[in-house]
Amino acid sequence: MSAQEEFDCIVIGAGVQGSFTAYQLAQRKRRTLLLEQFVLPHTRGSSHGQTRIIRKAYEHDFYTQMMEECYELWAQLEREAGVKLYRQTGLLIMGPEKSTNFQMFRNTLVNNKVPMVTLTSDNFSQHIPNVVLAAGDGAVVDVSAGVLYADRALKTVQEQFQKLGGILQDNEKVTDIKPGPIVTVTTSSRVFRAKSVVITAGPWANKLLVHTGLNLPLEVVKINVCYWREKVPGSYDVKRRFPCFILTEGEESKEHIYGLPSNEYPGMMKICYSIGSRTDPDFRDQQTNRSDIDILQRYISRCFPGLFPEPAVVESCMYTMTPDSHFILDHHPTYRNIIIGAGFSGHGFKFGPIIGKLLCELSQGDAPSYDLSPFQISRFLDKPKPAL
Ligand SMILES: Cc1cc2nc3c(=O)[nH]c(=O)nc-3n(C[C@H](O)[C@H](O)[C@H](O)COP(=O)(O)OP(=O)(O)OC[C@H]3O[C@@H](n4cnc5c(N)ncnc54)[C@H](O)[C@@H]3O)c2cc1C
Repeated sequence: MSAQEEFDCIVIGAGVQGSFTAYQLAQRKRRTLLLEQFVLPHTRGSSHGQTRIIRKAYEHDFYTQMMEECYELWAQLEREAGVKLYRQTGLLIMGPEKSTNFQMFRNTLVNNKVPMVTLTSDNFSQHIPNVVLAAGDGAVVDVSAGVLYADRALKTVQEQFQKLGGILQDNEKVTDIKPGPIVTVTTSSRVFRAKSVVITAGPWANKLLVHTGLNLPLEVVKINVCYWREKVPGSYDVKRRFPCFILTEGEESKEHIYGLPSNEYPGMMKICYSIGSRTDPDFRDQQTNRSDIDILQRYISRCFPGLFPEPAVVESCMYTMTPDSHFILDHHPTYRNIIIGAGFSGHGFKFGPIIGKLLCELSQGDAPSYDLSPFQISRFLDKPKPAL
């Protein structure tokens, strides 16, 4: 590869979103370069770790509708690579039955005819042993939900991209972007040029966008990824089809507790809180706040009697939050050949294949396959105030 070479597209950031975007571009025979600042694989961004939840249960129809095709695309990648990436477990949604948030989850499942089961306080423990349903809480199960094998998925999509002729360059940090009809991308060691650039830099998005004169309202938070030991090994095991779960709390959709059955560390369930503490991605480990763990301990003591209420393993990951928790999928407001995929707000992994398709479409000037109005940058720009 010569640094003078001109690419059809350069994708910056080889997390789940950049890797799927690069793969989609290579499938369309576009000459594509995927740049990653760290040596791969790494654990410093948002896409590492062995598992993520995949679900159609959402508060908004547009996510549920995108997930229809997304399940297909995950299955397609599994077939193409001959690798298993998804395991069906179902997703149990619990929350104050009358709360707007819980009702929105349930209504979306009903309206989109997603296979679901409603549990009542009478039959709950028959179906879900070892969990206490709080008084006043409702419970529904999104049947087709399950677990995605995250690290394996990332490795697979990057390999498929390379098999299609794509160039993946890790240990190559982008230090400057010069917009223009041909965009110039400078890295720690070279200079590249491309007709279009896709920025999928996760928590580092604003650090890169500064080179293009843009600052998005993104907040990076550190999440303590906690694993809780089972008192009786196997009680919450993926092999026994124990489901993933989400506990919606209050009226704020941002605030929830979620968990995945024991899988990566035998005899330990992964349970996390969705609100983290603000951090700088380059100094993540200096953030040592554990108030989310206190909240989890209280919840586990109350509702998961089969777990020791003390985390046995704590790892770190980051969310990049937007003010409304919806993604950013858009052209740069000034430079149309710079595309931005950012602010995945802690729920973007499952959408990887469809985000890749959409960012590829935007970079090629094609009409996007879905209505992207919920994801536009203009929603953050000041709206004119009505005249008094
Ligand atoms: C604890 C936790 C649990 C989650 N659970 C779920 C879940 O159950 N289901 C779900 O759907 N989603 C989940 N998510 C969210 C999901 O994992 C993220 O939305 C997704 O991984 C974001 O991917 P990304 O590609 O945008 O970011 P990243 O994975 O961070 O990728 C960005 C990449 O860009 C690189 N980069 C940055 N700057 C530069 C530069 N200057 N030059 C070169 N490279 C650069 C970074 O090194 C990084 O590799 C979870 C996230 C966390 C943290």
